[in-house]
Amino acid sequence: MKKLVFATNNEHKIRELKELLGDEFELLSLNDIGCSEEIPETGATLEINAAQKSYYIWDRYRMNCFADDTGLEIEALSNEPGVYSARYAGEAKSAAANMDKVLEKMAGKSNRNGQFRCVISLVIDGIEEQFEGVVKGDILTEKHGKDGFGYDPIFMPLGYPLSFAEMAAADKNRISHRGRAVAKLVDYLRNLNI
Ligand code: IMP
Repeated sequence: MKKLVFATNNEHKIRELKELLGDEFELLSLNDIGCSEEIPETGATLEINAAQKSYYIWDRYRMNCFADDTGLEIEALSNEPGVYSARYAGEAKSAAANMDKVLEKMAGKSNRNGQFRCVISLVIDGIEEQFEGVVKGDILTEKHGKDGFGYDPIFMPLGYPLSFAEMAAADKNRISHRGRAVAKLVDYLRNLNI
């Protein structure tokens, strides 16, 4: 089986990808390859951060690898929090505090347009390929729903009457930024001769 590292220790993401990739690839997490360092994410864009992570593994382990980076981009906030989504309200990476900060900054704003954007950087034999997934929607004026994570309670995807935190996980995954980027990645890997 072809080995492929997913530069994450997020069990949920690993499980999801294993199901999508099937038997053709042996998917390895950072733990699986003994990488316990915190991989730097110091770029000013999602593209740079994703590439930083995938090349970190390629450079040190010489293993084929992919990494993802996601941001919530809000039009009225000049695309903030964007690449800073995880730590928008500080290093504690608190989802509640991050949402509160967005709600505060968005108070009274009529333009509620936002999007989640996910970039996946895949490095095969040292050559990089990127895949992007976007889901557009509205930033709500208050939190709705208990499920999901991150900014899910304040994001309502276009064409749906529910926030991401009120949707069934399978429904969210079908239309989400990550779901769309992953679908492109899986399609590419299936057609790749490695
Ligand atoms: P990551 O690059 O997947 O770690 O995502 C960075 C940050 O974006 C997370 O810490 C969350 O705050 C936010 N985020 C990413 N994906 C989602 C999602 O599907 N729903 C809500 N927030 C998300």
